[in-house]
Formats: sequence, structure tokens, C-alpha cells
Amino acid sequence: MSALLEVRELHTRYGRVEALSGVSVTVPQGHIVSVIGANGAGKTTLMNSVMGVLPSQGDVVYGGESLRGVSLEGRVARGISLVPERRELFASMSVADNLTLGAYTRRRGAWRADLDEVYARFPRLLERRAQLAGTLSGGEQQMLAIGRALMARPRLLLLDEPSLGLAPLIVRDILQIVRGLRESGVTVLLVEQNARASLAISDEGYVLETGQVKLSGPARDLARNPELTASYLGG
Ligand code: ATP
Repeated sequence: MSALLEVRELHTRYGRVEALSGVSVTVPQGHIVSVIGANGAGKTTLMNSVMGVLPSQGDVVYGGESLRGVSLEGRVARGISLVPERRELFASMSVADNLTLGAYTRRRGAWRADLDEVYARFPRLLERRAQLAGTLSGGEQQMLAIGRALMARPRLLLLDEPSLGLAPLIVRDILQIVRGLRESGVTVLLVEQNARASLAISDEGYVLETGQVKLSGPARDLARNPELTASYLGG
């Protein structure tokens, strides 16, 4: 299985603080890879570095090519899409308009079929297409954020804490949606604090601690790893 994304020895700093200190992560084509870690471990920094919105040292290789010097828009156009932590929807715009904005890098008209596909995947969004995004429930907002990212037709989807603030039953729905994305051919890099649930749907996992990879391996093995069980999986 070839790697779609390879993060190599990434160093990212905020002024004098180094948030990532030589992080390497491999995301094989067609897999779900989860990154787990405590608050402040550097998970969001990793996502933003892959998107190219934070300057960093090291290399991000996508589809065999280095993304050095490639802008955020260039990365989106190449098929990388981010669902940011806290979703960042346009609260006072409708569901439909939020989705349409997700297609901004695509040719006019090319996105109509994608909109139908997103509505087929999320019938709830179709029902609520005229509703203002800010009035959706937390789970619906997360569906909208994922739907908006899908409008860019990603090959690689970066999901930053999709279960944040959601009730356990809704978390399960969202993770099932993520699993469905893999089935339709999307490769996923998933950041989660909800370690057990995210490892359960992942192929591989990485544990970040203060900007470094502490453990990594097949998700199944990590879920049984005693070190991880004690600190992240609730004993
Ligand atoms: P969380 O789960 O709380 O979102 P995280 O693992 O995503 O945490 P990051 O947000 O990547 O962690 O933060 C990593 C480190 O970098 C933290 O120590 C944080 O305080 C620091 N940091 C993040 N953003 C900035 C910033 N804009 N300026 C300075 N320091 C920052």
C-alpha cells in the first residue's frame, strides 16, 4: 500500500516555542490514520502544518511530491481538505451556501453533482438546506463541516477533533460517517482526544506527546498497548 501522505521530520514553532519537534507520520492510500494525544500535544499544529498555513521545517510529501512552496489553495486544489477544530462554519449563512463555498477551488458548475452527492450522504443536510448553519445542532454542524470539505473533492481529508463537544451517541454517528468515507475511497488523517473510539475505526495510530511521536503502529495493537491504556484509554 503506497503512502498518500508522508510527513517527514516536521518542526513547527510559534516564536520561541517549538510545538512540533521532528514529527514523522505516514498515511497510506485508502487508510484512516488517527493521531491521539492530550491537549497541547501538537495535533492541531500538525494539521495546520500539512495544510501549509504554518511555516515549518522538514517535509510534507503528498502523492510522492513535496509540497514545499505550495500554498494553501494549491494544496486544496491537489486534493487535501481540512475540517477544522470547532468547524468554522458561516453561522449566518444557509446550509446550502456553506456547502457551495466549500467548492471555491472548483470550476463553476462542476460542483452541482458534488452537492447532490453530499446531500445523498447526509439527508439531514438536504432537509435543512435553507436553515442557517448557526442554528443546527452540534452533530449537524459537524456533518455540514465534513460536507463542506467534501465539496472540494478531496483525496485526503484531515479531520481535527470531529467529536469535540458532541454527545457519545452522536460521536458514534460521526465516526461511522468517517468509516464510510474510507469506503468511498477517501484517505483520512483523524485527530481525536477520544482515543478508544478513533482507534476502533482506524488502520494505524500515532500518539503525540509534547510535539513528538511517543508511540505508533497498527491501531489494533495501540488499542491494547498497556502504556496507552493507562494514560489515554481510561485504564
Ligand atoms: P488541543 O487538543 O487542545 O487542541 P493540540 O494537540 O491540538 O491541543 P496544538 O493546538 O497544536 O495542540 O498546540 C501545541 C502547542 O503549541 C501548545 O503548547 C500550544 O499552547 C502552542 N500553540 C498553539 N497555537 C499557538 C499560537 N498561535 N501561538 C503560540 N503558541 C501556540
